[in-house]
Amino acid sequence: MDKLTPKDTSKGAEEIVLTQIKQDFITPANAIFDYVDIVEKFLNDAELVSDDEIAQIKSSCTHLIEQYEVAFVQNTGANAEDTKKTPEEYSELRHNLRTPLNAIIGYSEILMEDYEDDLEESAIEDFQQIINLARETEKAIEVFVDYIRGEAIDPNNDNVSNQLESAESLFKSLGDIEYSISLDDDIKESDILIVDDNVTNCEVLQRRLSMQGLSCRTAYDGTTALEEVFKKTPDLILLDVILPDINGLELLKTFRKEHNAESLPVIMVSAFNDVDSISKCIQLGAQDYLPKPINGTILLAKVVAALERKFWREREKELVNELHIQATTDQLTGIFNRRVVFEALDEAMDKANESQERQFTTIMFDIDFFKQVNDTYGHAGGDAVLIEFAKLLETEITSPNVVGRIGGEEFLAILYLNQDQAAEFCKKLIIKINNNTVHFDGIDIKITSSGGVAFSTETETSADLTNKADERLYEAKKSGRNRFKLIDTELVGDQ
Ligand code: GH3
Ligand code: MG
Ligand code: MG
Repeated sequence: MDKLTPKDTSKGAEEIVLTQIKQDFITPANAIFDYVDIVEKFLNDAELVSDDEIAQIKSSCTHLIEQYEVAFVQNTGANAEDTKKTPEEYSELRHNLRTPLNAIIGYSEILMEDYEDDLEESAIEDFQQIINLARETEKAIEVFVDYIRGEAIDPNNDNVSNQLESAESLFKSLGDIEYSISLDDDIKESDILIVDDNVTNCEVLQRRLSMQGLSCRTAYDGTTALEEVFKKTPDLILLDVILPDINGLELLKTFRKEHNAESLPVIMVSAFNDVDSISKCIQLGAQDYLPKPINGTILLAKVVAALERKFWREREKELVNELHIQATTDQLTGIFNRRVVFEALDEAMDKANESQERQFTTIMFDIDFFKQVNDTYGHAGGDAVLIEFAKLLETEITSPNVVGRIGGEEFLAILYLNQDQAAEFCKKLIIKINNNTVHFDGIDIKITSSGGVAFSTETETSADLTNKADERLYEAKKSGRNRFKLIDTELVGDQ
């Protein structure tokens, strides 16, 4: 079979090969910049004069890439036919493209020779690397010019013609693929805002997305876009860079003041396909970038990816939140569980040990004759009492004070009160408990509680503190219940 030439290949296959050809040039050419920066630093650190040479290498490198970009655009794709050249003109193009390389190699060799004795070996190796990269670039220029000449691919460049063949057969074998994405209903409910001053563009985007069941709003200028976002934050914005009133990048900055990238993903849409503007958008918090003209497949893939990411992040947050709640609350009563109270107690004790100002009081509660409640009203009646008692404590004990259920009918509180204040508090609390009635199944249940009160000033460890509270609770039970025992006082409820 004859070798394929660019003329014979399909558009997709040609693009693959062209991309490869360009990449083979751009990669080493850009790497030269990186190595120049490295050697420049070496030279400066060693205080070796080299500004002129380095400047020449850098400007040659810029020139090299610029020239190549121009030649690439002029001689490939739709422009290729109009720029057919004579063999002499191709030689001239090749020569022009290679010229900056001579300067890069030449100046690198000069610096390397001049400073051979002053530079470390690794710096010399970096100079050598610049020269190697320049040679690689030179080869890539050969391949490029051979390719755009078209009819005669250099037989030594089998590489390119083989690539063409395999890309072509790949495209043929793939045929026309039906691309569709099945969307979760949750994702389908997403609200997308399309911002583009070109009405046709907006419509095309909207049509494509609504075909998948997605609903879109549109805004033809920046001011309207801001109004739309203010009205209701969309799940995704497709944002054109060039708008009549506010530049898309400016708009993106404004959105980012109120919403982060997670809560409001933005995909930039623009005909600028230069790397700098793309990276600016990403730096400003755009999640992705779509080049115009829009390719339907890529549009859909990116939109769905952005929406799915947002959706799953939100689910993840909800789950983490739920887990946190589950881990910190007592299931029956909804107040803090044992773990939270004891952790808070340890923390409070540490702080109290550090500072006199952070002294606190702890109360251990135990409902009196609770077993009888269960026996009389059943377990459900007992539960109702626990829920009601927890509610009462939660109403009376608010942040930064802490209260939680530490066992069956036992509760523990941490109160930032001194001894006198604690006594006052307990007096009032006993009255509240005594006046409280639990309504269960048409019956009014009254309960009392005993309490043991201990103070952080009495000890240095939380274990000792709870022991003291526990001992006093036991004494309160022994001496008749419905009472709170402090160090040497007993506050008694209605008898
Ligand atoms: P005292 O006045 O000495 O504290 O007597 P009491 O009956 O309150 O104490 P005891 O420790 O003998 O009984 C506690 C009862 O609490 C035993 C247990 O079945 C019950 N209990 C523990 N957890 C729950 C619960 O979640 N719901 C219900 N309804 N009862 C519970
Ligand atoms: Mg008990
Ligand atoms: Mg009890």
